Amino acid sequence: MFESLSDRLGGVFERLRGRGALSEADVRTAMREVRVALLEADVALPVAREFVDKVTEEAVGQQVLRSVTPGQQVVKIVHDALVDMLGADTAELHIDVTPPAVIMLVGLQGSGKTTTTAKLAKLLKKQGKKVMMASLDVNRPAAQEQLAVLGTQTEVATLPIVAGQQPVEIARRALQSAKLQGFDVVMLDTAGRLHVDQALMDEMKAVADISRPQEILLVVDSLTGQDAVNVASNFSAQVPLTGVILTRMDGDARGGAALSMRAVTGQPIKFAGMGEKLDQIEPFHPKRVAGRILG
Ligand code: GDP
Repeated sequence: MFESLSDRLGGVFERLRGRGALSEADVRTAMREVRVALLEADVALPVAREFVDKVTEEAVGQQVLRSVTPGQQVVKIVHDALVDMLGADTAELHIDVTPPAVIMLVGLQGSGKTTTTAKLAKLLKKQGKKVMMASLDVNRPAAQEQLAVLGTQTEVATLPIVAGQQPVEIARRALQSAKLQGFDVVMLDTAGRLHVDQALMDEMKAVADISRPQEILLVVDSLTGQDAVNVASNFSAQVPLTGVILTRMDGDARGGAALSMRAVTGQPIKFAGMGEKLDQIEPFHPKRVAGRILG
């Protein structure tokens, strides 16, 4: 994960640490290199700029430059800023409400939404929750069946499919059924599209209006870099997201989407998809990820 960014930053830090004294110019040169490394990792430009400005301001302070180990201090400042950018603390799901709690997953087609719905359901089930999943995807052929198959694999209940029902009706039925049968959590896997469009947004808003979710989680493919950032900014402008789930982090060498997400959506990354298997999902730990990036 994030190997190329890690290598680039590693080189910058080695040069910083290797020097006894540091001048303001040295710090500025290093920060220019950090900026290039972030942009090459596909971090959104405004996010990279803000990061570097903030770090530079702290790092050129007299206390840092006059300290015994200025290089180490600068590296520590970068580390702390990275943790901040990734979201500081591990973010929890807020589903301790009178049941059923509703978790809605939104995102583009192919982002990993359906797989992630099942992964999360499995995780919650392991934590002792009684979970029901419902697919509201009436556009993609066999999407509802795909979730039913995943339900069988994970031994998580899925809402029976009724042909011809529209997403809002399905959501309503899921809630009623969950209430009657005493489920703790209802997971709504919404439809995706190939691109962000108004019909998709309107449908999501209508579903959110009637189901009042505790969590609206945006699922994005970390491998799509800047596109993921654009998708996130479009969705967050239209629906009140409560968090992000980044999929395919197992193959993400660059990390730009992960590093930009919090700044772009104002919401934390809550989970990371780490593979195709249904137990390959992890809570997102900003400190651990920052540590991994910095080697
Ligand atoms: P949806 O259209 O958004 O519902 O996407 P799917 O859930 O059908 O996932 C699309 C593909 O991505 C499937 O082949 C999944 O197995 C794969 N996938 C989903 N999440 C991950 C992940 O975290 N890592 C990897 N490597 N593959 C994933």
